[in-house]
Amino acid sequence: MKPSEFPELNTALTAVRQAAGVCRSVQASMDPDALEKKDRSPVTVADFAGQALICRQLQLAYPNDAVIGEEGADELRKPEGVSFLELVHRECVTVCGKCSVGEVCDWIDRGSQQNYCSRFWTLDPIDGTKGFLRNDQYAISLALIIDGEIAIGVLGCPNLPVDSNEPEGARGVLAWGVAGRGSWMVPLDAAESMPVKLNVTGTQQVTASRFCESVESGHSSHDWSGKIASALGITREPFRIDSQCKYFAVARGDADIYLRLPTRKGYQEKIWDHAGGVILVEEAGGCVTDIHGVLPRFNHGRTLSANEGMVVTNGQFHQAVVGAVGACAPA
Ligand code: AMP
Ligand code: MG
Repeated sequence: MKPSEFPELNTALTAVRQAAGVCRSVQASMDPDALEKKDRSPVTVADFAGQALICRQLQLAYPNDAVIGEEGADELRKPEGVSFLELVHRECVTVCGKCSVGEVCDWIDRGSQQNYCSRFWTLDPIDGTKGFLRNDQYAISLALIIDGEIAIGVLGCPNLPVDSNEPEGARGVLAWGVAGRGSWMVPLDAAESMPVKLNVTGTQQVTASRFCESVESGHSSHDWSGKIASALGITREPFRIDSQCKYFAVARGDADIYLRLPTRKGYQEKIWDHAGGVILVEEAGGCVTDIHGVLPRFNHGRTLSANEGMVVTNGQFHQAVVGAVGACAPA
């Protein structure tokens, strides 16, 4: 498919590519010990600059569209945020040329829509901040939701191998799904190349499957997934990777299953942690529900308050996995 057939997709791809460029440049200049030093400033600068640049593109093309984003500029507008704002501003200027710090804050705040509306974008400028700080995987996620349904989802995965058979080869993937039109990818650095269609695996036996999950056991219970794997007879080691790169992994067929299992009662998943990835998997032929088998509902504002956790599969044994998730649930 040609992205140019879909104006919103074109805008979203440009926006995500710009944010990915900022993420890469910030990451390249990052102190390698940032994570040990608990210095989150690089990821925060890239996060704000990414949200600013994406919201800028959306504002230019669709000035009336709402954006439910992860970040707001309140901290940057405070006197103690000035030096930080300068760093964010500098990153934005590199990409979009001359602009004021006020404009940067205004772009960021365009992403602060709180409530559901019939047409909106949802954005996570850096999903997987821990992965970013580890110099590992992270994603830029942007999706357009119309009447509660995901119309378009775009994921930028700047560190992911272009070819999963060549883990040491070129890195950087730009992937998208369009409702009814499939999921596709190009290398992030070869935007004009022919898009490649994404397809989930054809694995039919759950015992032969491989699942992926969060690196962070605080985001998804590893104990619970271990019990599910035993119950289903899955022997392959889980593939742990940060961010919505997990959705991409299932969409491309690098994994058969993605489990996101709540670590505590009451945690509400954020829509920007899922929307971009969900459509990628669905349009690649897979199946996405929450841990109870309920479809994700993107019409409740900023969170998936009608859902709990997430179960993503290639569609061949979805009910069996959901059943095992329930059967192995902690008391
Ligand atoms: P991942 O990289 O898959 O581990 O997920 C990263 C995302 O986890 C972040 O964007 C957060 O929004 C989200 N997150 C933070 N705390 C939790 C939690 N307790 N349970 C589930 N997700 C969380
Ligand atoms: Mg996130």
